[in-house]
Amino acid sequence: MMEKASRVLQKYFGYTQFRDGQQKVIESLLRGKNTLAIMPTGAGKSLAYQIPALLFEGTTLVISPLISLMKDQVDALQQYGVPATFINSSLSIKETRSRIEKAERGEYKLLYVAPERLESESFRNLLESLNVSFVAIDEAHCVSQWGHDFRPSYLHLGPFLKSFPQQPLIGAFTATATEEVQTDIIRQLGLNGPNVFVTALNRPNLSFTTLRGENKKAFILEYAQLHADQSGIIYVGTRKEVDNLQTFLSKNGLRAGKYHAGMGEEDRQKSQEDFLFDERTVMVATNAFGMGIDKSNVRYVIHYNMPKNMEAYYQEAGRAGRDGEPGECLLLFSPQDVVLQRFLIEQTIFQPERKMNELKKLQGMVDYCHSPRCLRKTILEYFGEENIQEECGNCSNCNDEREMVDITVEAQKIFSCIYRMRERFGIGLVAEVLKGSRKAKILELRFDELTTHGIMRDIPLQEIKDRINYLVAENFLQLSNGEYPVVKLLPNAVLVIRGEAKVSQKVSPQPAREKAEEISLFDRLRALRRELALRGNLPPYMIFADSTLREMAQLCPIDHQSLIRISGVGERKLEKYGSIFLDEIRSFNEENKKGLSTHQGSSEKFVIAPTLLQRNVSAVSMRSEKIRSSAKASKDKVLSHQQTFILYQEGYSLEDIARVRNVTALTVQQHLVRCSLDGQVIPWDDFIPIEQEPLILEAVRQVGREKLRPIKELLSDEVEWFTIQAVLEKYKIQGEEK
Ligand code: ADP
Ligand code: ZN
Repeated sequence: MMEKASRVLQKYFGYTQFRDGQQKVIESLLRGKNTLAIMPTGAGKSLAYQIPALLFEGTTLVISPLISLMKDQVDALQQYGVPATFINSSLSIKETRSRIEKAERGEYKLLYVAPERLESESFRNLLESLNVSFVAIDEAHCVSQWGHDFRPSYLHLGPFLKSFPQQPLIGAFTATATEEVQTDIIRQLGLNGPNVFVTALNRPNLSFTTLRGENKKAFILEYAQLHADQSGIIYVGTRKEVDNLQTFLSKNGLRAGKYHAGMGEEDRQKSQEDFLFDERTVMVATNAFGMGIDKSNVRYVIHYNMPKNMEAYYQEAGRAGRDGEPGECLLLFSPQDVVLQRFLIEQTIFQPERKMNELKKLQGMVDYCHSPRCLRKTILEYFGEENIQEECGNCSNCNDEREMVDITVEAQKIFSCIYRMRERFGIGLVAEVLKGSRKAKILELRFDELTTHGIMRDIPLQEIKDRINYLVAENFLQLSNGEYPVVKLLPNAVLVIRGEAKVSQKVSPQPAREKAEEISLFDRLRALRRELALRGNLPPYMIFADSTLREMAQLCPIDHQSLIRISGVGERKLEKYGSIFLDEIRSFNEENKKGLSTHQGSSEKFVIAPTLLQRNVSAVSMRSEKIRSSAKASKDKVLSHQQTFILYQEGYSLEDIARVRNVTALTVQQHLVRCSLDGQVIPWDDFIPIEQEPLILEAVRQVGREKLRPIKELLSDEVEWFTIQAVLEKYKIQGEEK
């Protein structure tokens, strides 16, 4: 049963292996069991219903909450060669009817509809003529009032599902649902004793960072500038702040877009597209943005404000790194965020029980922001996971190498100023008094006569405010509730004033700088992808994921056969894009091998003088009949990859060859692989660390040799791509000889 599913996975999507969660869910559905699947963002939920849909007879109905996103999902499927379409209120009755008729004729395997449609009598009549074997409900938590995103239209689902004369199979999918919400989903949808699968929530490729008392704007600007060519989302609490921050980033030269519910439908659509198409790299948005956005190459998600609960946080942060490549999740905490969130709960939820529930969740979020423990562990425990290792090594608490700086004296100045101002003013005014401002309000209140007036005049005003914020975040100070929060001293601060306690602050980390090496081919492929995307009017990630491009850049495939080995390259995409990407890789390699003739004169630091080497190459090439005969090019020209091998046979190391030919070590390695594919026997043992060979063979035994990435993922990071290729080539040849 699963073999068929695996074949579909490989053929359409170009992946060799199901992920843990997918396997179980698909198996359950193929057995005909109603299934509730909780799979974190990026775990591959969509495939978990798309693959059964491709295997079942008839049509699968996919219920999806957002009309605006259906088209994207369907476009993405069409890229994979999967016949799918959508029906929603944007279509005329005629078009709707025509799509249903096509569905009846079996022209679509998947039909996406919005829950609102299900209310329409005429639509339901139309559906009757259709053989619906399977109903997949995406974002199923929307059916629950206890969830974090309740949508009234989802309440129609229960009755709708019951109305089928023959019960279709039901699959409900969501990224996060506490046990309470799970029970509610099962009840609302009337799933009878379903299989429930909760996929491990952990996303090892995401790093988590919380920062407290940071100057947010300055931090974001620096971060976004450092990551200017990567996609990122910045979640901001209010529409007004979205507008402000986006303007600020744009003025500073960043390609920033924005999204919030206060914008017109058209503007939102445009903005979303610009982001999906990589026209704009930073998206500044409220939490209205992102549900169902499956852009896989979002490299970072920053929360400018703390969200209302952990469910929302993990879902939003989880939009980073869906392709499995590293993603950074940063949360900038400030105490005002708590005030705002509490205010929102008070204003919008009236039922006492629900209000309590929301406040409890809010506290969970605040605790996360202050936790000194591993952040990943804190998240996973919140969702009820057990037996989690103490330290993940990939969060700001595990990796905290910042220096502690003693700021007791400054803190004392701040506290005593607040005290002298009688704890009746906000952060802004306190900071101005410390700075020594003589503005009217201060003179009027005679704060210029305080001993603390101007005692921090050497420090920029913003930094004073940052310090005060930090002291609030660290529980020395408290902000009152209400529209104009006032700073007050907490008992901890009194201890500090008395000299009985100290205050220290960690110096903020420098955002990691992008490694400069080895990305040029990746950049080229990315540029090509962008061009194709523009031409095809598709978001770039729908052509190939970042992870797929990165693997291409690492492995430099030379033909279709080696290209399909790359994870994310299925049959349709190979056919459609294979040649053009291969051409790009080839021309990149061509450009890189110019070295041989162009760089005489810069020879001092080379181990071997290039001129000498060049003579060697031609001498050897004259002699080497065998190699010449395998060359596909003209008779008297030895191809670049063969020259590499000749030099290697002459006794030069790969490093020397790379240096002298002015190409990267990677290119030289790939030259050898290419020679091997040409039929040349390469002494692979020279390149395979003896202890790695059995490990690689074992990995190959487990996941097959079609794709390299699954093999790589089973092995420790020390094992290089090239070593894996070497082992594969070594055994391919031996296999043939036997
Ligand atoms: P979710 O809906 O759960 O957030 P998606 O279905 O969008 O996740 O999948 C996330 C990414 O992972 C997509 O780019 C998808 O193509 C990729 N993916 C899904 N399943 C696999 C798999 N078995 N092997 C490799 N990549 C996969
Ligand atoms: Zn950790």
